[in-house]
Amino acid sequence: MTVATYKNTQLLIDNQWCDAASGKTLPVVNPATGLEIGRVAFAGIPDLDRALASATKGFAIWRNTPAVERSNIMRKAAVLMRERAAEIGVLMTQEQGKPLAEAKAEAMMSAEVIEWCAEEGRRVYGRLVPPRAMNVSAQVHKEPVGIVAAFTPWNFPINQVVRKLSAALATGCAIIVKAPEETPASPAALIQAFVDAGVPPGVISLVYGSPAEISGYLIPHPLVRKITFTGSTPVGKQLAAMAGLHMKRATMELGGHAPVIVAADADIALALKTAGSMKFRNAGQVCISPTRFLVHNSIKAEFAKGMVAIAEKLKVADGMTDGTQMGPLANFRRVTAMEQLTADARAKGATIATGGERIGTSGNFFAPTVITDLPMNVDLLNNEPFGPMAAIQGFDELEDAIAQANRLPFGLAGYAFTSSLKNAHMLSKQLEVGMLWINQGGMAWAEMPFGGIKDSGYGSEGGTEILDAYVNTKAVSIVCV
Ligand code: NAD
Repeated sequence: MTVATYKNTQLLIDNQWCDAASGKTLPVVNPATGLEIGRVAFAGIPDLDRALASATKGFAIWRNTPAVERSNIMRKAAVLMRERAAEIGVLMTQEQGKPLAEAKAEAMMSAEVIEWCAEEGRRVYGRLVPPRAMNVSAQVHKEPVGIVAAFTPWNFPINQVVRKLSAALATGCAIIVKAPEETPASPAALIQAFVDAGVPPGVISLVYGSPAEISGYLIPHPLVRKITFTGSTPVGKQLAAMAGLHMKRATMELGGHAPVIVAADADIALALKTAGSMKFRNAGQVCISPTRFLVHNSIKAEFAKGMVAIAEKLKVADGMTDGTQMGPLANFRRVTAMEQLTADARAKGATIATGGERIGTSGNFFAPTVITDLPMNVDLLNNEPFGPMAAIQGFDELEDAIAQANRLPFGLAGYAFTSSLKNAHMLSKQLEVGMLWINQGGMAWAEMPFGGIKDSGYGSEGGTEILDAYVNTKAVSIVCV
């Protein structure tokens, strides 16, 4: 596989791939080499206006398409994603950096989300309510909210789009996706699969450009009825505030700082194997990545030694190289962030047990890092690292570990390892998170809810809840005269 397989990415408006009206483009860089591998079209306001006009027409058609037909088209898109996963994985690795196997798996998994939503879309039932008089029909209707604007990040270029896109399409909405400029080709390939499957023009539009300009235009726009965003908490708060100002429905999937509680009675080998592989997947650039390891003091030293061994054994290389377990960070901002977190931890007296530095001088490679003996004021304990960095702290009483876990404003994912059912019940009740995995790694299965609480956002991007944010409820009462 070479860089030559990578092409420039255009906008999709009215099912036509097109350049921006201005002709403006941005470079796309391979994070493993630092070299430009292509360009992506940069939409301006005239392009957004075209997308909005097209989405208006697309919505009129799609909302009146029977759910079963929508479902059939979506299922075809899922088939195409499975057929094309290997090819799409290559695009994703070149633009995002993750190991090829992870990139292909992400493309494959998108098919499951599409199918889940296609199935759930056939079950968006209204209901009949027992009326107060026998000549009244009291009904509850579920209707698509309208045109959705979706903003998605670069860490899972397909997965972050497919959950929004599939939920919107399953409920009869039209959607304008602002996908990530750093990783544009793989989300474009996802959307191509929907076009090839027969989604009518205007139902999906795809744009890239200035994130702030596009959200600043689309969120207040009267034609847009709902927004959905995945990204950092500070940006999410800005967009949610804007949505509130304009009374738009919003789904926010934001940052986390996932605690991992390893109780004294835990299976340490299982905890290390599971949390160790989760920690360095996608170089830690995962919103549910385990980051704060709270380990019982009786096993802390053994656990830390195990994590260091895992980190030092990982093969860190270009994601296209056979056997790579961790690729580069997706953009250079993350390398700088890792360097700053390390310097802060060192300056405040923490121990850098392994890693803590950039690897080489080309590409965004950073060594898998484990930090111990951290004072509470270390930045790493308070700000989401979003990189290959694990902080290990000790505790004596489980209640103290729970208090530590709940200390931060985030509430996305949590993990625990314990062989006690009593502990498991207590943790499931007391941890302030939207998702909790006990004695296992975090898997975002389509059939399970996915989302956070507190500063990690609101709304769910999985389970039967996934469609909730895309439908309006209308109460209809008809007197038969
Ligand atoms: P960032 O906060 O600048 O951007 C995060 C995402 O939001 C990007 O995709 C960006 O394009 C988008 N964005 C930024 N400003 C926007 C705006 N005004 N309107 C619409 N979209 C906007 O940070 P970054 O350097 O790209 O990423 C680093 C941080 O972002 C991480 O520390 C992490 O907390 C967070 N992040 C979270 C996720 C997630 O899955 N929840 C994914 C990527 C990044």
